[in-house]
Amino acid sequence: MKVTEHLRAAKSTLFSIEILPPLKGKSIQSIYDSIDPLMEFKPSFVDVTYHREEYVYKKREGGYLEKVSIRKRPGTVGICAAIMNRYHVDAVPHIICGGFTKEETESALIDLHFLGVDNVLLLRGDAIKAEPAFVPDPAGHAYALDLVKQVMDMNRAKYLHEDVIDMAPTNFCLGVAGYPEKHFEAPNPLADLRALKAKVDAGADFIVTQMFFDNSKYFAFVERCREAGINVPIIPGIKILTGKKQLVTLPKIFHIDLPQDLYEAAEKCKTDAEVREVGIEWAIQQSKELVKANVPCLHFYTMGVSEATRRVASEVF
Ligand code: FAD
Repeated sequence: MKVTEHLRAAKSTLFSIEILPPLKGKSIQSIYDSIDPLMEFKPSFVDVTYHREEYVYKKREGGYLEKVSIRKRPGTVGICAAIMNRYHVDAVPHIICGGFTKEETESALIDLHFLGVDNVLLLRGDAIKAEPAFVPDPAGHAYALDLVKQVMDMNRAKYLHEDVIDMAPTNFCLGVAGYPEKHFEAPNPLADLRALKAKVDAGADFIVTQMFFDNSKYFAFVERCREAGINVPIIPGIKILTGKKQLVTLPKIFHIDLPQDLYEAAEKCKTDAEVREVGIEWAIQQSKELVKANVPCLHFYTMGVSEATRRVASEVF
């Protein structure tokens, strides 16, 4: 079922989660272990992230360092199929531009279509860790917008090689990312909003936001989107603060602010367990306010750790 159909059929705010594929070589059991405790809250869909290759340096004979490209968290398509098979819940694979040719993207989308996956979340992806800026594959896409256009073409039975005849259309529901606090590369909020509108005008059916800890930023973002003529559902993304290190890593990696009250309360904590309690309480209050405002769905970034999400969900749903 499409995400938009879930949202239309809903009588109240839905619950959904995002999970990460396990590190290469780890069992899929770790995925089940992180989803099992959340099934009682009936997630409408489960997003599975996609991770591009990274460079690592391997020491070779004679002291030489060899630069090797590895994908540390493969398996998104297989995990989606496994989730749908085991839980009978819709899986939403993330598809990224970075590191993929258009041809490879088309093949992945054909696999997903054959597997009965109805939804995709289309993203540009970030720069490779060792590189200062995002570089598209020479035969790939530079922006998520181009990915939206490719999937929309497939939904209209237009594949990459026009000489194929009698092509069957796909029927994907398309999600894209939105940034209440602006994407870090955008020169200003208006430019970012225009880039988001271009994705929606090209066919995106729903938006999932970057994490935010201050609801007023989400509400203001939704208002700006509506004023700009972006009328698709905007699903808020929630991350629960679970450790002291995250006071530094979350703003650095995701380019978001931590509200002063939350920051100070977490700073005072002596252990990660105490920080987690602060984070859970913050997320409960945040979620309750969002539900009261009738947001379509609360989408939790579990990052492979579901206990905190379970605690919040049990207070909210
Ligand atoms: P885009 O929409 O392409 O925008 C990128 C930047 O370019 C923005 O600054 C935008 O304003 C600007 N821009 C867009 N179009 C144009 C244009 N035509 N001309 C000039 N500028 C333009 N990353 C992963 O690697 N894997 C994942 O699974 C993943 N999941 C995510 C899920 C969510 C909900 C979110 C919010 C992010 C996720 N990311 C993921 C991170 C994402 O890939 C990065 O934030 C990335 O830097 C931007 O992706 P985007 O799709 O928003 O890019």
